[in-house]
Amino acid sequence: MPPAKDYYRVLGVSEKAPEAEIKKAYRRLAKKYHPDANPSDDSAAERFKEIGEAYGVLSDQAQRKKYDTMRKYGAFSPSGGGFGRTSRGGSVRMEDVDFGGFPGFGGLGDLFSSIFGKGKRSAGADPIEVSAEIPFRTAALGGKIPVTVAVTEACPVCGGTGAAAGAKVDICQECKGRGTVTFGQGGFAVTRPCPACRGRGKIPSQACGRCSGSAEIDVNKRLLVTVAPGTDSGQKVRLKGQGQRSSDAGPPGDLIVTFQVAPDRFFRREGLAVHCTVPVNLVQAVLGAKIKVRTIDGRRVVLNIPPGTQPGRRFRIRGQGIAKGNTRGDQIVEVTVTIPEDLTPAQVEALRQFADSAGLKY
Ligand SMILES: [Zn+2]
Ligand SMILES: [Zn+2]
Repeated sequence: MPPAKDYYRVLGVSEKAPEAEIKKAYRRLAKKYHPDANPSDDSAAERFKEIGEAYGVLSDQAQRKKYDTMRKYGAFSPSGGGFGRTSRGGSVRMEDVDFGGFPGFGGLGDLFSSIFGKGKRSAGADPIEVSAEIPFRTAALGGKIPVTVAVTEACPVCGGTGAAAGAKVDICQECKGRGTVTFGQGGFAVTRPCPACRGRGKIPSQACGRCSGSAEIDVNKRLLVTVAPGTDSGQKVRLKGQGQRSSDAGPPGDLIVTFQVAPDRFFRREGLAVHCTVPVNLVQAVLGAKIKVRTIDGRRVVLNIPPGTQPGRRFRIRGQGIAKGNTRGDQIVEVTVTIPEDLTPAQVEALRQFADSAGLKY
């Protein structure tokens, strides 16, 4: 296995060293350990190789960044010891961190892909967050809404083993069947699902055709989610164990649903109050009337419009708003007045007479 070294130590620079300093250090050391200058010194040749490797990574901004992340997580012992065998990474997907391009890193990247992303699974799956739009009335009164969640489930063809029918299943050489790998040094040790066997401890001779050996398939899970009365936009519910199943023995993840209340054509909401606008005609506004107003419960209540009601006047219907706990808000009804159009000559004459008698200019 190629040793994983601390490239900063190799070049004798600090991890904060600017590019120019790294270049300078490299030039100085490369000159010193160049094989031409040390014809009979094998260790110098080895050192020269190391220096080139270190410079190759640290002089490339993107590679240096990745390397810094690995280094931060304790991937290398400072003496350049590395950890045991990490080869045979060919079957492992590099999902989060791709160290494939690193010179002399061997399979170390595979180990790292198990630190990030998938690595969290040993403590159960991460929660899945989805957003769900709910009708105005469901939000106000409570109810149930269907929610579809994309999750992975155990492959039904191979029963979650990842093996093709009749395939020989061997103990994973990487983790010796334990399903986990531990690495680190000093007080820092990390145990993660084995990247080679994906935590199963076994590797089949032939992968399942349905799931390509991953042992899981993507499915859309449909759930009925309970919406509490008085739910508002942005409110969340956490459904324990309803999210992603865990690929190891850990518990399934939770599902977090964030509600978005759809606007209603008639009602709008302000806290626990429900607002609506109701048109009345000119005569109703002038003479007063009893009108019927729809509530969020779907009932109709009678609202008394007094004579001389001005447009924009608001009326309160007590206890017909949003219920939350033991309190229930009110329904606020704003009245608009519809002005008649296209009057007949007789209607115009009648209005003129009205205006004359009321002393109104026109
Ligand atoms: Zn399968
Ligand atoms: Zn393994």
